[in-house]
Amino acid sequence: MTAPASTSPHASAALDEARRLFAHVSGRQPDGVWSSAGRANLIGEHTDYNEGFVLPFAIQHRTYAAAGLRSDGGDPRIRVASTFAAGAVELAVGSLAATFDGPAGTAVADGAVPEWAAYALGVAWAALAATGRSADELPGVDIAIASDVPVGAGLSSSAAIEGAVASALNEVWGLGLPPLEMALIGRRAENEAVGAPTGVMDQVSSIMGRADAATFLDCRSLDTQSVDLGFAAEGLELLVIDTGVKHSHATGGYRDRRDACERGAAALGVAALRDVPAADLDRARDLLDDATFRRVRHIVTENQRVLDTVGALRTSGPRAIGDLLVASHASMRDDFEISVPELDVAVETAVAEGAVGARMTGGGFGGSAIALVEAAASAPVTAAAEAAFAARGFAAPHCFTVIPSQGARRDA
Ligand code: ADP
Ligand code: MG
Repeated sequence: MTAPASTSPHASAALDEARRLFAHVSGRQPDGVWSSAGRANLIGEHTDYNEGFVLPFAIQHRTYAAAGLRSDGGDPRIRVASTFAAGAVELAVGSLAATFDGPAGTAVADGAVPEWAAYALGVAWAALAATGRSADELPGVDIAIASDVPVGAGLSSSAAIEGAVASALNEVWGLGLPPLEMALIGRRAENEAVGAPTGVMDQVSSIMGRADAATFLDCRSLDTQSVDLGFAAEGLELLVIDTGVKHSHATGGYRDRRDACERGAAALGVAALRDVPAADLDRARDLLDDATFRRVRHIVTENQRVLDTVGALRTSGPRAIGDLLVASHASMRDDFEISVPELDVAVETAVAEGAVGARMTGGGFGGSAIALVEAAASAPVTAAAEAAFAARGFAAPHCFTVIPSQGARRDA
């Protein structure tokens, strides 16, 4: 397979780092290097686990997994290392089930597996479970990981590591998994091995993304459609404003919001909030306490905004989606209450500087905002955001543009 030219200035550095780490840990060269992308969500936040719609795209920042089979004989082992953390973690392939079959997140909570390693080892565990392959028919494998996806910035470094490891194992173990299956395996690893209750959007986007396009995902049917973005053709850039405020999906308020959505759906008698039409919001207001109602209203209106964004992109192009992005941010700030002051300032500043639209992206409680701007405005918006953050005593934001890019692939 030929690797397409990368669009990230750092991509080959991370690829080389993965190779070097592999050689350092295993004393040999890898059989190959596979990668998967970080992602930015254009619109559709917290709608995924409500069986609704999302519109993310893969970005040029990637996580690389250099992998090679081992010759362990009767006791195949899986060993993972990452530039993210010191030390390799090694398990018998045959002990993956015993390690991760228990209640979600137990192996990490018990200290049996460091959290970072649970993403990779959890993918191996979920891949075996999904394919029905038994540990004794598979050879051992070494995996070394390096990445240029910012961690905890709302750009889904977690899905990128899952997609990279799933792609590597798919090939070296000959599992024959189609992309959507790999995404589901990544989600299972994150939900059950790590213990972070996230939806499947990140993995689908990381693995199935296409250049210059977003992935429109129906999180109930898991149908995907590629939607052309055309940012570059319109002279636009997508600027990420990373606030530097760290979140963690495994803890934080994410689980609380999920619980509120489940409560809301149960009270409204629907399987998921996907099934609540906008016209039912008045009834919802009477049935629910104020906070739960506002959580529900965010999901219902956000689903509609995703559909409207897809429609606007298809009929009018990217300049037509600005108001939808801004409305999405307001809904997350006021109704879902997952924004933080840094994100609000980033969005307000970008809009004041003439951005087509802007919103926080990712699970919230920190991370990044995105702003769709004229290419010539990237630098002034960056400067304005830096000034606005400094004026409020916030740490300087890290601003960079993201390019809608290809998902999982083999690089070497
Ligand atoms: P996000 O996905 O928004 O970056 P998450 O909290 O979901 O944030 O995932 C971040 C976690 O994923 C890290 O704390 C680490 O455990 C794991 N991770 C991400 N990238 C790597 C990597 N290159 N190597 C090892 N672990 C990683
Ligand atoms: Mg994540």
